[in-house]
Amino acid sequence: MTPILQTERLHKRFGGLAAVADVSIDIAAGEIHCLIGPNGAGKSTLFRLVTGTYPPTSGEVLFKGENVTQRKPYERVTRGMSIKLQVPSVFRELPVNQNLDIALQRKLPTAAVPRERARLLGLLQLEDEAHRPAGILSHGQQQWLEIGMALALEPSLLLLDEPTAGMSPQETERTGELIKRLNAQGMTVLVVEHDMTFVRQIALRVTVLHLGRVFAQGNIEQVIADPRVEEIYLGKGHVG
Ligand code: ADP
Ligand code: MG
Repeated sequence: MTPILQTERLHKRFGGLAAVADVSIDIAAGEIHCLIGPNGAGKSTLFRLVTGTYPPTSGEVLFKGENVTQRKPYERVTRGMSIKLQVPSVFRELPVNQNLDIALQRKLPTAAVPRERARLLGLLQLEDEAHRPAGILSHGQQQWLEIGMALALEPSLLLLDEPTAGMSPQETERTGELIKRLNAQGMTVLVVEHDMTFVRQIALRVTVLHLGRVFAQGNIEQVIADPRVEEIYLGKGHVG
């Protein structure tokens, strides 16, 4: 089966620095794939090459078998990529349900919005917050709302950049449960993440980046057991 996402020998240079070098990865439809690595490894840059925020210096991005390397970010979104970036972009003054409606109206006829909104509120466990302004929710709840807004676009691939940054351990665990629930419903998820406990909770397959290159790849237990992986994390004074 064609992978849902492939990168082929992707390179991104910033001046003299190869932020991403020769990265070829495959993401199979239906998997949760985590991209990990120490600070500066090139994770966010790779993420932006996939979403189209940056053009690569060379190499290709294929989505559902189509070469999308020259496609704009919005063209990738209309093909089924949906992105939740690290910086929250909910409408803080508007209630949770209106935030969802704004996202849902892009895709659905008005009459279909309330039902899908209710489904998302349930999935996100935000039913009790539906009428509260998004800006007064907890940090974790705002992140979940934002995942819900990304889901409103009915993506086939959900891209999450450090979804648990700034979350409490409890919120982190609930985020993992949410991602697993989505995946059980068929969603393919690519997550950039630092938190190893979280990666262990959600991921089967993991790609480790180091100095812009694929350093290790495999299932989570193999990767964690690899002493070289521990070394690059410890070398940066930073585990997870
Ligand atoms: P990570 O997300 O793994 O921490 P990044 O992709 O943010 O790593 O960064 C990889 C390398 O590329 C770092 O050395 C970083 O300083 C550099 N870098 C990232 N973005 C830019 C940019 N816009 N201009 C110049 N250098 C950049
Ligand atoms: Mg980053």
